[in-house]
Amino acid sequence: MAIADHSLSIIRGACGHDCPDTCSWNVTVQDGRAQKLQGDPNHPFTRGTLCAKVNHYLERVYHDQRVSHPLRRVGAKGEGRFERVTWDEALTDIAARWMAVIEETGAEAILPYSSAGTQGLIQMSSLDRRLFGLLGCSNLERNICGEVAGIGVASTQGVGYGADPEDLVHSKYIVLWGTNTIVTNLHLWPIITEARSRGAKLVVIDPIRTRTAEQADWHLAVRPGSDAALALAMMHVIIRDDLIDHDYVERYATGYAELVERVREYSPEAVASVVGLDAAIIEQFAREYATTAPSLLRPLIGIEHHRNGAMMFRTIACLPILIGAWRQRGGGLSRSTHGLQFSTLNIQGLLLPQHHQPGVRALNMRDLGNDLCDRTLSPPIRSLCVYNSNPAVSIPNQQQIRRGLRRDDLFTVVHDLFITETAKYADYVLPATSQIEHLDLVPAWGHHYLSLNRPAIEPIGESVANTEFFRRLARAMGRTEPWLFDSDEQLIRTVLNSQHPWIAPITFERLWDEGFVRFNPERDWLPFAEGGFPTRSGKAELYSSTLAEQGLDPLPSRGDIRQAPAGMLQLITGKTLHFLNSSYGHIERHRNREGRLYIELDAHDAQSRNLIAGRMVDVSNNQGKITAECRISTRVRPGIAWMPFGGLQDATGEFVSANTLTPEEPTDWGGGSGFYDTFVDVLPTNGTIRNDL
Ligand code: SF4
Repeated sequence: MAIADHSLSIIRGACGHDCPDTCSWNVTVQDGRAQKLQGDPNHPFTRGTLCAKVNHYLERVYHDQRVSHPLRRVGAKGEGRFERVTWDEALTDIAARWMAVIEETGAEAILPYSSAGTQGLIQMSSLDRRLFGLLGCSNLERNICGEVAGIGVASTQGVGYGADPEDLVHSKYIVLWGTNTIVTNLHLWPIITEARSRGAKLVVIDPIRTRTAEQADWHLAVRPGSDAALALAMMHVIIRDDLIDHDYVERYATGYAELVERVREYSPEAVASVVGLDAAIIEQFAREYATTAPSLLRPLIGIEHHRNGAMMFRTIACLPILIGAWRQRGGGLSRSTHGLQFSTLNIQGLLLPQHHQPGVRALNMRDLGNDLCDRTLSPPIRSLCVYNSNPAVSIPNQQQIRRGLRRDDLFTVVHDLFITETAKYADYVLPATSQIEHLDLVPAWGHHYLSLNRPAIEPIGESVANTEFFRRLARAMGRTEPWLFDSDEQLIRTVLNSQHPWIAPITFERLWDEGFVRFNPERDWLPFAEGGFPTRSGKAELYSSTLAEQGLDPLPSRGDIRQAPAGMLQLITGKTLHFLNSSYGHIERHRNREGRLYIELDAHDAQSRNLIAGRMVDVSNNQGKITAECRISTRVRPGIAWMPFGGLQDATGEFVSANTLTPEEPTDWGGGSGFYDTFVDVLPTNGTIRNDL
């Protein structure tokens, strides 16, 4: 496949970061080197702009710390000392070690570990799934983000997706619920702004007065984890005041009578102290939401990372059904579009599950630390293959993961662009390509466009795409199945080979020429205007017999809302402008912009602990300790501490993240993690503030 030649050329691509916006970009290439990377002005969502991180993407591509050759560990695990080796040396050794593991303890002792380090479909999940599935390696439950929200919403309406985000422009009442849109979903903001210019009211529900909350017409600073209680109180008001769309409910929902009984106890007065809002505010919010049409809810990630995360999404999803909000364009609920895109693509053809070994165990990615340290696990994890992820930073209980990664008898292989925190513990680090060096198909979870990412430059050094990494591994292990060696273009053609009427007209050639195509051509598409909920009953399930059969509460409920132990604060974290999880954490420009790690808390909480703004504090619990600069603000509710995640160093220069403090405890269902049900002591430290970070 031809890529940029030596003259000036502009190559279309798409951002592969874990972000709902999936921007299209144009890369200007001259003499084989990328000179400029800009947002595509023709993409209806990108509108010519990228974000604070990706505006400087080329610094990442050409960074002098890129891993450009295969490396073998020479120092102790965690030290990050390596020597250069050839691909052949590395692959020969890895294949021999893996074959010995398979021979001695079975392939389940090998755990592939990946996440959404790239969201391009082919580089995220294709040949890796085929190879590891064929070998019978342990499956990984990749439930840390999105699964809980999706399955929670689906337990009410059958699927996790809803209204087209572009339809927000038609809304008259928009509720951004647990999402800092200006920072994490930047390209939706102009659509919301347009809706507001047409008269829409914007409500933000968030325990923190985020940048988005500051811009809202109304900010409701609820207590973390109490969102389902708020939704139940809204339902109480809506039912009590007969603001129900009875025709919609009778035709398209089941369990209304049971729901009426359930919400009786959730009056605004009854939940006010739980939610942290006055009863009159809850009344007003419920009535405004139910009487303004079209009204739209957009619940996102902030709600998900609680132990009652799935129930919160399930409960919130009942609201638009009661008021028939799905009937109107701009009404209903808008969440990730990921499930919708995947339901139209030929994912089975991509993954080939018929070739996977049956009955193989699955380990949840949340439990990595404990699984690595668990000597009773049978078989124990003897080898890790990490790609598209940096679990030593982004997964709960960071110190336990490090203890596991230090095991002498663990053989760890990492494929990445940089020596990440995880890679420092690796036996081999193999160089990976950046997004402008490989081909990919990029579905979006924040809009209805499917993009093709064309390679703009040759791979840096000896780096290879994930797909090529797995082809090489398969070859080194002596495999000859032809489908382990499909080219990237073949893989994309396979996944586009779908009978779904939306995908059928989209060809590889068209994507190559146009860069992106709206995969849903139906501009007036309303998913549930006339019911059609793909649940077991065929209706929206206000009462769910499926949940009942699983031993879960069949009705919406407040779930298990955790309280801080006496004297402790609830720690919640958020994304910043210049880091994306752990990505960009090592780039000077981004580090300088973010400054040193800080923790933000209310003045009364600071005063009662003798904390002074600008001084360092120790943030600790029974899992560990990190040090951060103290900031005092009115942005956070009393009882809460807020910390950015993504930077890799704390304020003393130690390489630790907020995940030192987060537990692995599972969500109610969906297999996620209660990141935000973390409680910490915050105390003054005698450490000295460093100004060089
Ligand atoms: S991270 Fe998000 S906003 Fe930034 S360029 Fe990528 S898709 Fe666009």
